[in-house]
Amino acid sequence: MSPRITIIGAGQAGALLALLLARRGHDVTVFESRPDLRRVDIDAGRSINLALATRGIVPLVDAGVIDAVDAITIPMRGRMVHAVGDPTPDLQAYGSRPHEVIHSVSRTDLNAILLDAAEATGRVDIQFEVRLDRVDLDTSTLHFTDGRTEPFDIVVGADGAGSRVRRSMGDAGSCSFTTDWLDHDYKELTLPPGVDGTHQLDPNALHIWPRGEFMLIALANPEGDFTVTLFAPSTTFEHLDADPTAVARFFDEHFAEFVPFVPDLVAEFGENPTGRLGTLRADGWHHDGRAVLVGDAAHAIVPFHGQGMNAALESVRCLDRHLATRPDDPAAAFAAYETERKPDADAIAEMALGNYLEMRSGVIDPDHLAKRALALELERRHPGHLSPRYNMVMFSTMPYADALERARRQAELITTSLADPTFDIDTAVRALPPLPALDPLADPEALSIS
Ligand SMILES: Cc1cc2nc3c(=O)[nH]c(=O)nc-3n(C[C@H](O)[C@H](O)[C@H](O)COP(=O)(O)OP(=O)(O)OC[C@H]3O[C@@H](n4cnc5c(N)ncnc54)[C@H](O)[C@@H]3O)c2cc1C
Repeated sequence: MSPRITIIGAGQAGALLALLLARRGHDVTVFESRPDLRRVDIDAGRSINLALATRGIVPLVDAGVIDAVDAITIPMRGRMVHAVGDPTPDLQAYGSRPHEVIHSVSRTDLNAILLDAAEATGRVDIQFEVRLDRVDLDTSTLHFTDGRTEPFDIVVGADGAGSRVRRSMGDAGSCSFTTDWLDHDYKELTLPPGVDGTHQLDPNALHIWPRGEFMLIALANPEGDFTVTLFAPSTTFEHLDADPTAVARFFDEHFAEFVPFVPDLVAEFGENPTGRLGTLRADGWHHDGRAVLVGDAAHAIVPFHGQGMNAALESVRCLDRHLATRPDDPAAAFAAYETERKPDADAIAEMALGNYLEMRSGVIDPDHLAKRALALELERRHPGHLSPRYNMVMFSTMPYADALERARRQAELITTSLADPTFDIDTAVRALPPLPALDPLADPEALSIS
């Protein structure tokens, strides 16, 4: 008889894993600390929409939910860069191929699709408002904050960056982890629909107002509004949160073009929480074939590459694949999963940190733009050998660690080429190993792009 699997956390990772495991015949119980988001509005304070890209799309195709997801996504073809004082923002396309588009999706609506699909299998029991306190790994017992206890065969920690499962594994000595907090925070705001109810800006772009030390970004929602996020040094937030009169001055000084779109900016700024950002690095993602971590619980990253959820979904698919390959030996399956995924988790953590600089200043830096333009041109000339780093991360399924390594090599060639016009870049690029094939499920038609 296959072991009963208990998942802690019904976020994207936990809900997708429940669905995939149930489809392969497992009975799954999920414990989620929050109320059922399909019945109660619990979005306040969390990022309302997310960028979904190829690595997240593939597991959703695999799980059979992509048609439902298609109905709730908005395609974004590139970055709309709002430079200071420029009335005509510039669209920097992500790429020229049909699938090189990212998709704005509501966190809640995506989660609801996954929860519905998991429950529809008839094998998944989801219990809401049940908070795990700790896991006793000696006796295979879950302890909940309401005093309840439950035995388990296998427990999966899909309980996010502050994972209690991970903490228990740390106490048992199987997992060690650190969180590097960034000295920049974030706050979300809403750019409402215009008077006619439609989007005030082009919905098919990711809008950025890059300002060096800080930036605003905006992603469209289907209701006509945008979710806007301010990323800035923690000291800036301390100043603005302490003095509401400084908020209007700050936006007038740095984001004057943005201010007319949000009439109640100062009030909203005061009401919405300021969130922290960090990178969680964990070693030892599993314990004795009975406990394993997935998603943010194993590898939370800063959001600047829009990859945390994409990486979580990709890790879920990887874990499911290893469990399917070794159904009678979960310890070996978990070890193989960590061996495969840990280098990728480290690589995307590094690239996500690096992308903050690109977004808040690179997108208006002539040197950076020249490099990006040359990379895109080289990709056009040698599509089988070079792809810009951003595109390898967002629009491929090659391991993140390989993307990072290739990106380093490509960057060296491009820098050399721009410094030395006699350098034969074409020969050098043709000598790079061929790019791997896309996962067959990375169907460019999977999500509508018009
Ligand atoms: C500002 C911001 C913007 C982002 N933008 C993007 C983006 O554009 N694209 C992208 O790919 N990613 C983005 N991310 C990252 C993304 O949100 C996460 O990587 C993703 O949600 C991780 O999914 P998860 O299921 O692993 O964890 P979570 O979504 O955190 O889910 C964990 C679940 O476990 C539950 N839980 C926690 N503790 C317990 C407990 N003790 N007992 C029971 N249940 C518990 C929680 O309630 C939650 O439902 C962003 C993150 C932030 C902060």
